[in-house]
Amino acid sequence: MPPDLFQDILDSLPGHVAALDQEGLVATVNASLAAFAADHSAPVSAMFRPGADFFAACAEVFPDRQAAAVCQGAREVLGGQRPRFMAEVSFPRQDHEFWFSLVVTSRLGPQAGAILTFMDITRQKQLEEHILHDAFHDTLTGLFNRALFINRLERAINRIRRAPNQNFAVIYLDIDRFKLVNKTFGHVTGDRLLMVVANRLQKATRASDTLARFGGDEFAVLVEDVDGPDGAIAAAERILCRMASPFTLRKQNISITVSIGVVLGTTAYEHPDHILRDADNAMYSSKEHGGNHSTLFDAGMRVISSRRMEIELDLGKALAANEIMVYYQPIVSLRSGRITGLEALARWRHPRLGMIPPMEFIPVAEESNLINVLGDMVFRKACERLTELSRKFPATALMTMSVNISARQFRRPDFVSGLRDILERTGAPPERMCLEVTESMLMEDAESAARTIRELKDLGLRVVIDDFGTGYSSLSYLQRFPFDSLKVDRSFVGTMNETRQNREIIRTIIAMARHLGLEVVAEGVEICEHRDMLTALDCEFAQGFLFSEPLESEALDALLERHDGDCPSS
Ligand code: C2E
Ligand code: CA
Ligand code: CA
Repeated sequence: MPPDLFQDILDSLPGHVAALDQEGLVATVNASLAAFAADHSAPVSAMFRPGADFFAACAEVFPDRQAAAVCQGAREVLGGQRPRFMAEVSFPRQDHEFWFSLVVTSRLGPQAGAILTFMDITRQKQLEEHILHDAFHDTLTGLFNRALFINRLERAINRIRRAPNQNFAVIYLDIDRFKLVNKTFGHVTGDRLLMVVANRLQKATRASDTLARFGGDEFAVLVEDVDGPDGAIAAAERILCRMASPFTLRKQNISITVSIGVVLGTTAYEHPDHILRDADNAMYSSKEHGGNHSTLFDAGMRVISSRRMEIELDLGKALAANEIMVYYQPIVSLRSGRITGLEALARWRHPRLGMIPPMEFIPVAEESNLINVLGDMVFRKACERLTELSRKFPATALMTMSVNISARQFRRPDFVSGLRDILERTGAPPERMCLEVTESMLMEDAESAARTIRELKDLGLRVVIDDFGTGYSSLSYLQRFPFDSLKVDRSFVGTMNETRQNREIIRTIIAMARHLGLEVVAEGVEICEHRDMLTALDCEFAQGFLFSEPLESEALDALLERHDGDCPSS
């Protein structure tokens, strides 16, 4: 082929094309490659000048491994050992890399040699990188994701098997009551909070640690070369510490706490899932401590989780078999010393596991429809008990009966009509029945919550806000709902003798509640000091172990008989 025609054909091709001679020297390049080379500085520009030694240039332009592969492939084509060779190569430039797919084909005839064709695949590479990045990163926080974490954990497990002294630990954490943050401040702020939490976690961990977000409000850290259990716990404590100061988001101060589970890697672990399961159990145990806590996993916790499984399996049967009982805890007036009310608290007498507290089975019931059956049952028993007490003990004629309500019950469309039926069937006076609801139930959908509370009030029932102070709502917010009384959460009462701040919180709650015309009940009064301080603050009602624990029916009868309405220690 005449050289001019050959050059014309090369120039008309869309890709970058170069022809090499038998020695590997550049014979010619097409217009497109010439323009590309002109756009670069040396060594790329020099690589495609006619006469340049392609093999020598490769070593200067491409990264080592690429250069070696391209040289070997091109040599084999030139030597006739193979008809073609393909590779992906990158041309580095200050701002970004250009990626090309290179095809080397042999050229026979009088001008034997090779033809190199470069096709630009930069965009495709960027896309691949993007996809690869997304596959292993969390889009919101930019941290690694669960998939990558598991990958690293697998490697750590393999390493510890080869070298058992290469300790590692997994720190698993979950933000306490994060759902409430979302509900209160909205999802945008919730997302911002997660980003700032990620940032603080990064500061609390070392560069060699693997920090990942597992989705939602769950994060995990893989700490390699950890210094035994003490080192792992210290790392967890550092994280707790980092979270302690409030976050300022959109001019709002938000305080959060986290629950942490820590697992130390051992050769006994074969699979990342097993470590994560144990970490989850330990974290769950921190939650049961009330959060803001870290727990080191020990094998006893696996027993706890099989216990939870048993609870899940047996709860339905227990309701049918009447194993769920109701205990009653007195509420006393600090002014008169008399019992003015009772709170109904569910208990489960399990045939094998013994007495199970509500904190263990109510959340299980709440995950299914069983909470409705359970809630109706507690309300019915409480109504029956109140009518019975009025008959047996005339002194209890004005006593109230409080029943706890779950969010799921509260949202049920036939919730109010169901209660009305029970009231009618048992003949209990609605004005002496109190329903205890929590702040979070109101935040979820304030409008429909307000409607439900109105309907309850129309039935003549009393409505109480429970665990006050543990949510994010303010008293002024609560003003929108027609409550009768407010229960100050036991976490404030229990520490009121320890810090001035908690005492001040209680003082403020009492003052504001009074201003809004609400009665105040202090929960968790355990010692005389609490009672005396509350009396001094003019808090009218109290409940707690100092006066009485929750009692089963007979013990309650005995107490009422003995004291004729007066409560011990009041
Ligand atoms: P709660 O409504 O805050 O109930 C008060 C809890 O505080 C009870 O725990 C009671 O035994 C405990 N308590 C009372 N006095 C003291 C004290 O002086 N110190 C301390 N540390 N604790 C005290 P319990 O019976 O284990 O109930 C736990 C929670 O389970 C209740 O918290 C309530 O939220 C829920 N619950 C109980 N029964 C029912 C029910 O029938 N339905 C629903 N939805 N929830 C229930
Ligand atoms: Ca309660
Ligand atoms: Ca409470």
